[in-house]
Amino acid sequence: MSGEVLLAGWFDEFQNGILTWLPLVFFGALVYLLWRTIQLMPRIRPKVVEPTSKSSITWSDVGGVDEAAAELQEVVDFLLDPRRFAALGARVPKGILLYGPPGTGKTLLAKAVAHASGASFYSQSAAAFVEMFAGLGAARIRNLFATARKNQPAIVFIDELDAVGMRRSGHAFNREHDQTLNQLLVELDGFVDAGQVVVIGASNRLEDLDPALLRPGRFDRQVLVSPPDLAGREAILGVHTRGKPLADDIDLNAVARQTSGLTGADLSNICNEAAICAARAERARICQIDFDTALERVVAGLQQRRVVTEKEKRILAYHEAGHALMSHLVGEPQPVQKVTIISRGRALGYTLNTPQEDRYLHTKEELFDLLEVLLAGRAAEHVVFGRITNGAANDLERATEIARAMIFEFGMGDEITSRTMRADNYALSEETKRLRDDEQARLTDTAYEEAKRLIGKHRAALDRLAVSLLEKETLGRAELDELLGDVERESDASETVGTPRAITVSD
Ligand code: ATP
Repeated sequence: MSGEVLLAGWFDEFQNGILTWLPLVFFGALVYLLWRTIQLMPRIRPKVVEPTSKSSITWSDVGGVDEAAAELQEVVDFLLDPRRFAALGARVPKGILLYGPPGTGKTLLAKAVAHASGASFYSQSAAAFVEMFAGLGAARIRNLFATARKNQPAIVFIDELDAVGMRRSGHAFNREHDQTLNQLLVELDGFVDAGQVVVIGASNRLEDLDPALLRPGRFDRQVLVSPPDLAGREAILGVHTRGKPLADDIDLNAVARQTSGLTGADLSNICNEAAICAARAERARICQIDFDTALERVVAGLQQRRVVTEKEKRILAYHEAGHALMSHLVGEPQPVQKVTIISRGRALGYTLNTPQEDRYLHTKEELFDLLEVLLAGRAAEHVVFGRITNGAANDLERATEIARAMIFEFGMGDEITSRTMRADNYALSEETKRLRDDEQARLTDTAYEEAKRLIGKHRAALDRLAVSLLEKETLGRAELDELLGDVERESDASETVGTPRAITVSD
């Protein structure tokens, strides 16, 4: 056999070998790569779900949400004694949605239910179900509910439900979201026969949730957790000062009065700030002054001095004096607690009004007075210096919001009244829309003119306030009473001004 033939035979064998082995080598490499990818990216495997350690939060740790707590007590009763409900054929809601602004205690309530019922508590933020890989979020949900079913009685708590609960769009690029939400709906449907498993969802935005989530059999009980009222705030302050050494001068009721509109989380923050303040001053107990400082810090931002020129200081003093004078002229019960030209947070100076009580209804006159108070800073600048600055931006924004609400929502215009109000914008004629805009502008213009007139009329009092502010930089309630004691009220309002969010800080 010649060398050439030998070489050709060997080459043929080699070629056949490659053709046989190469696909196998490729396949092996592919399997190895896939296996490594799965190992390196644990996020793409649904995690094993462990119950959150038994909740230690009790009902006594939650204050000021009595109505929500009463609704949830039913769930506790059911989990403790399901046969009592079954014997009467009662269908206890198994999906409960807690909704309300952030920091109002929704998570805290779910934990208290878990503690009171002794159920296993599976807490997951819905954000954890949001995945890059199609189908993985759904797998996580399946996993969570399957584990809860195996460990009855159990509570599945899904926080920030909006992360998966937003309305389905049907778009291809939202497939993963839609699939995750569909899986949640399937699990909720399976709950009717799920025994002692209750699912509690929490959301800040009920209106954005997919309506399918709220249908009977799913999250069919919706419980509003709103910011606390006066008694609620006092109770929450009690919770967060429990175990803290308090001085005898502390009046939690007074602190509660000054914190209308704040949430449980804000109040907890205030109590903590007060304790830090006392520690910094090396006091053994927390005093009222610590609460006053903490309150201002939380409401108006952290103290942060800025360098302000003498000329700016004069303008600031008159601006703040304008707010304080006008608050006095329109009357109680929203007295000015403090006026200052020391900067805090974004504001160069501010006037702090705190109400005597929570108010939910306000007359047209009261709201108009409030517009005057908000615009009085700029009005004072105009009356005294003949020119205006950019320092009133925040005041103007809020005044515009109020005026808009008065005309567009409350039908408080001269011509735009409840009779001409229509909810749907399209149904309004161009003429009515123009009328509405004109009315809003007229309202703020009139309030501004009236503020200028009153400030001009009481110019001597304004000067007294501004001079005193320039000298002391901060004026408290007693000093204001002394400076304004002889100035008569000018309000048209039969009742006095109250604001929806009652602590008012005018910059
Ligand atoms: P989010 O919507 O942002 O999740 P949330 O409504 O779930 O907020 P929580 O997480 O329950 O609010 O509250 C945050 C913190 O605020 C709590 O840990 C607690 O310290 C305090 N807090 C809130 N509400 C209350 C309350 N009603 N009673 C006592 N403390 C409260």
